Amino acid sequence: MAGNIMLEVVTPDKSVVSEEAQIVVAPGEYGEFGVLIGHTSFLTTLKTGMLRYKDKGGSERAVFVSGGFAEVLPNKVTVLAESADRRRDIDVERARAAMKRAEQRIAEARTKEDIDARRAEAALQRAIARMKISERRAA
Ligand code: ATP
Repeated sequence: MAGNIMLEVVTPDKSVVSEEAQIVVAPGEYGEFGVLIGHTSFLTTLKTGMLRYKDKGGSERAVFVSGGFAEVLPNKVTVLAESADRRRDIDVERARAAMKRAEQRIAEARTKEDIDARRAEAALQRAIARMKISERRAA
């Protein structure tokens, strides 16, 4: 079926993407999935990682998503996430600092009980994903 699909990526404090896409590829909990117009409806949780889409002009776009789920309808993909950033809005230095902080916390968690290793691990995954996305050429 020809035509674009509407893509919305929203966090509790901002609308990150609201535009038509030719295709959307998202990091589903059970593997990456691609959506074109006319896709069967479904709902899934997402892994921390990269959502990609081709905008209506054919340019590849990359978006960081974390703590989210996606609702797929035949004409629309809605992602609700705890945090999301377009590639161009990612501050690499901030991500690098977050990565170092998380690595330090993970190391300290081995000896100190008051450090939440799981939380530090999640922060590390977010930082690594942001850094990977910002290394890509897509906007
Ligand atoms: P940090 O420790 O640097 O805050 P984090 O992974 O804990 O990183 P999140 O909880 O995912 O941050 O996001 C909090 C807010 O900060 C969100 O609005 C998110 O868009 C923004 N943010 C976090 N890291 C970056 C970054 N590297 N570049 C741009 N925005 C960021």
